Amino acid sequence: MNTLSKKSIQKLNTCHSDLKRLIKTVALEEKCAVICGFRGRYEQEKAYYDGKSKAKWGMSKHNLKPSQAVDVVPLPLDWNNIERFEKLGRKIMQKADELNINIKWGRDFKGLKDYPHFELNTDI
Ligand SMILES: [Zn+2]
Repeated sequence: MNTLSKKSIQKLNTCHSDLKRLIKTVALEEKCAVICGFRGRYEQEKAYYDGKSKAKWGMSKHNLKPSQAVDVVPLPLDWNNIERFEKLGRKIMQKADELNINIKWGRDFKGLKDYPHFELNTDI
């Protein structure tokens, strides 16, 4: 059974087909939610000034149409429980490998670790 909520599906639908395929597959096994797909100019600038993103408008894969980045969190959501983000992330990376989808995990970024963030490994 797919565990994604309607809201999650709406956000996922703003993403690249490979990300849709990947997250839908993962959601069959892990309870998770999509908190961000495509991010418009206002939301990107806000995320930047709130310190939630290192990127200004146009510098993030969330700003492409369709979005080449997706933010996914484990449910029930507890931002302090990093182990659960690690577990979900490992699952997502493993499934991506199985599906032959080349992605990067925000956890591996230099500086600010972005645990919920996954993006296609392509040049903008
Ligand atoms: Zn992100």
